[in-house]
Amino acid sequence: MMEQKQLKQLLDKACKKPVSQCSVPELYQGLLALVQAMAEKRGKTARTEKKKLYYISAEFLLGKLLSNNLINLGIYDDVRAILADCGRSLGEIEEYEPEPSLGNGGLGRLAACFLDSIATLGLNGDGIGLNYHMGLFKQVFSCNKQQEAPDPWIGSPSWLIRTDTTYEIPYKDFTLQSRMYNIQVTGYNNRANLLHLFDLETVNDHIIQKGISFDKKDIRENLTLFLYPDDSNRAGRMLRIYQQYFMVSSAARLILDEALEKGSDLTDLSDYAVIQINDTHPTMVIPELIRLLTAEHGMEMDTAIEIVSRCCAYTNHTILAEALEKWPVKDLEEAVPQLVPVIKALDDRVRRRFSDPSVYIIDGEGLVHMAHIDIHYGFSVNGVAALHTDILKETELRNFYAIYPEKFNNKTNGITFRRWLLYCNPELTAWIEGLIGGGFRQDASELQKLNDPKFLEDPKVLESLLSVKAEKKRQLASWLKKTQNIDIDPESIFDIQIKRLHEYKRQQLNALYLIHKYQEIKSGKIPATPITAIFGAKAAPAYVIAKDIIHMILCLQQVIESDPEVSPWLKTVMVCNYNVTLAEKLIPACDISQQISLASKEASGTGNMKFMLNGAITLGTEDGANVEIHQLVGDSNIYVFGDSSQTVIQRYKDGSYRSRDFYEKDPVLRQAVDFITGPEMMAAGCPENLNRLSQELLNKDWFMTFPDFEAYLSAREQAFHDYEDRYAWAKKMLVNISQAGFFSSDRTIAQYNKDIWKL
Ligand SMILES: *Cc1c(COP(=O)(O)O)cnc(C)c1O
Repeated sequence: MMEQKQLKQLLDKACKKPVSQCSVPELYQGLLALVQAMAEKRGKTARTEKKKLYYISAEFLLGKLLSNNLINLGIYDDVRAILADCGRSLGEIEEYEPEPSLGNGGLGRLAACFLDSIATLGLNGDGIGLNYHMGLFKQVFSCNKQQEAPDPWIGSPSWLIRTDTTYEIPYKDFTLQSRMYNIQVTGYNNRANLLHLFDLETVNDHIIQKGISFDKKDIRENLTLFLYPDDSNRAGRMLRIYQQYFMVSSAARLILDEALEKGSDLTDLSDYAVIQINDTHPTMVIPELIRLLTAEHGMEMDTAIEIVSRCCAYTNHTILAEALEKWPVKDLEEAVPQLVPVIKALDDRVRRRFSDPSVYIIDGEGLVHMAHIDIHYGFSVNGVAALHTDILKETELRNFYAIYPEKFNNKTNGITFRRWLLYCNPELTAWIEGLIGGGFRQDASELQKLNDPKFLEDPKVLESLLSVKAEKKRQLASWLKKTQNIDIDPESIFDIQIKRLHEYKRQQLNALYLIHKYQEIKSGKIPATPITAIFGAKAAPAYVIAKDIIHMILCLQQVIESDPEVSPWLKTVMVCNYNVTLAEKLIPACDISQQISLASKEASGTGNMKFMLNGAITLGTEDGANVEIHQLVGDSNIYVFGDSSQTVIQRYKDGSYRSRDFYEKDPVLRQAVDFITGPEMMAAGCPENLNRLSQELLNKDWFMTFPDFEAYLSAREQAFHDYEDRYAWAKKMLVNISQAGFFSSDRTIAQYNKDIWKL
């Protein structure tokens, strides 16, 4: 361990002047340089093994990197102390650091947690992705609606390290040049790996017009501007193909180059490389590797296919039909014609072996099913929570499971405890350490030690746990006031739903409850403790109903706020531009964690795990990893409601669901639904959006909010009721924390390595 004095000297040197004389940007620059130098050392000594994992993903939702790196390098406390001695604070530097905007939601955040755990377990594994200059988008609210703005995050200095590695990426009518940038990934008390982000040499940030619009056809200048550019028209879909190919062609060349460098003759590629394909966005890496092995390395097609199949493993993240990628052959012909013969060869081999058209790669309409390529030509297929993997085997992918039972396996998702406990909740971390010592920092399963009557039955322990939570609630309240000018009462119940806006996640169900609650308070039924319901969510720019739901929530927020009969008891707020930084503030302050997706639809969820770890109690459906949380904490430490995944799957199958039947039968539900288009809401919002949403619910409600409404209402009331018994509630919190160790991504990664990667 480095002496604090020595560290101070290093920091002065990195800042090029004494810390006490530095501005915030100068301190940031100095700390960044210091971290990069230390990470470089750890990387150099580590990167010698023969076999390497390549984790390819369209998204890496990293979050800010400075403090996380300081923790992982073991110098966080010393740096804080040094800064404090000089009258500075790490907090102001954290606020200054921009958040990289390279992800959308859980899938990208998972990739970031995995990189942390891969390095922490000392495994030889790097990430590969794209360097989107404007990220996803920055959310702003105007007239109670979401607007999108570019989110430029690459400033100077930056964590990105430019390399000399460049590749020529061939398309039908032109060639583009990719350049590799690296972001160092430090492990906790362990090695440093790399995240390789490929960028377009000719990208031009200035072609962006109003909002986030730009010329979709100008591939030479637009390719790495945005993550998930609007694909509601053909040009947008073509751009996604160009992007995906750019990522995987660069990746494939890097993988082959590194193997050759280490002495591979490429027939033994699987001794040098294992490739984890995160969802289907990187699937084209399979045909691209096969193409390179045949076209540039002189291999026979069958040999190349066999070699590549031994290297590739696929993670499925969803059963939502609209999220399973299918590209028209004719679009691939237009963008990347060189891949089409390979994809046809892969399809031919499938057709020769199997007669069931549901497992073909190219279907009758000329669509290429990307997931089918992964399943036939990868050696592993994994789901991301026990229920999800079961549904894949039994329902969604049952025809594939019948062919390849040995390929299917489950890897329940996890989260890195460095970011989601040590960093975001130092108060809780210290509190835990005071009870069971510090072993849980390295080994999350030690949290189990908290599940002991000597803690659970000790009022002093419970009292102090409640005071940690109260402190985090006060911190959140003052931070929200400062950054978003939002007022919330830290004495109220913090009930939080933060996640991408999607109908399957059912923010609309949450909002219907809040309307009901508003009506109840109006009629004189006052809650025992005031309630603050917090939302945070971005909607995909072209997802009309998702944006209508945001509009409804923002209008409701205004209606409640301006009603003096209700506002002392109920507050709804939607925080703006939900991202990792906000999650780090919101989650430690939460009392009730809303995980209310329609059963069978949320593959795993990872937000649910972060909340549990921070002592929030889950109110959720039996979906994704909620099922495993339920098993771990037992019936009395979670609020479970709603129809089971079997019921839901059956209802879809027989097409029997009619939302209007529920609406007509249940007057409480009817009142809440009618309110959406009632005079109060219409005065706050736009009839077009509110009417469209109301019609959607009444005529379709594809994600079945109405059947779960009554059960949701009573489960939520029960939770609010139980909150009043503070010691009983604190006990539930403690049980949740004690059982959260299973959801460490260190556990998940150890399983990936043991069963799939074998590094
Ligand atoms: C964890 C996380 C998610 C995923 O949340 P879910 O509730 O699992 O959908 C999305 N966005 C951010 C910023 C996160 O930190």
